[in-house]
Amino acid sequence: MATILINHVYKRYSSSKHAVVSDFHMEIKDKEFLVFVGPSGCGKSTTLRMIAGLEEISEGEVYIGDRLVNDLPPKDRDIAMVFQNYALYPNMSVFENIAFGLRLRKLPRHEIDQSVRRAARALELDAYLDRKPSQLSGGQRQRVALGRAIVRSPQVFLMDEPLSNLDAKLRVQMRMEIIKLHKTLGVTFVYVTHDQVEAMTMADRIVVMKDGLIQQIDTPEAVYSTP
Ligand code: ADP
Ligand code: ADP
Repeated sequence: MATILINHVYKRYSSSKHAVVSDFHMEIKDKEFLVFVGPSGCGKSTTLRMIAGLEEISEGEVYIGDRLVNDLPPKDRDIAMVFQNYALYPNMSVFENIAFGLRLRKLPRHEIDQSVRRAARALELDAYLDRKPSQLSGGQRQRVALGRAIVRSPQVFLMDEPLSNLDAKLRVQMRMEIIKLHKTLGVTFVYVTHDQVEAMTMADRIVVMKDGLIQQIDTPEAVYSTP
């Protein structure tokens, strides 16, 4: 069960007393597709990064399942992350990029092989396993990033604007792939975007943020219906 409780969480950077995330409080449901929206600088990424363990929490607690994760490093949180700028290893092949996390976990070689091939098949990357990231298109690179996340079999997927560097056509295609992935994997997705269409088509629920505060949490229909 990967319910996530974000319990009255604050983020203050040491440089200022002003909180960039204030009293963020909500429960993310198991298996839901939750999307954070709001203008640039409102605190979406910071919140996601605190869930991921990439950013220290100034005040409050984050629980994944029933485990308090405030002091757990990202690799121990049962999460996988996908970012805007792929973050692939340029000198590794597609295969090695996807396999990387599994190698760190010292899984047996045949298991790694099998998991990577399964992910590659699901993402239509079979033909590209020997290539380097520089020999791939933007969409293919983003699929490698997804592949690397999938093979970890996490209970939670955290995505920060994963499609914003892609052209419009690819964005639509990848949007569909991510929706499909969420259905197939049956795990919790938390997704940051400033794209209203992405939020409307993907989300079970939307969190609208402004100036570090939650303004609204509701279904896409409710958030985007004109009152
Ligand atoms: P969003 O993802 O909604 O665009 P962010 O979470 O990236 O917003 O940023 C929220 C606020 O925190 C912004 O005002 C940003 O300038 C500030 N901020 C982000 N990272 C740092 C940092 N490392 N040091 C100081 N301020 C930061
Ligand atoms: P090491 O460098 O530790 O010897 P290898 O690069 O030989 O590891 O690969 C480890 C495993 O990953 C092997 O089972 C190999 O078949 C598989 N593998 C590595 N690269 C590829 C690739 N590009 N395509 C398919 N399988 C690969």
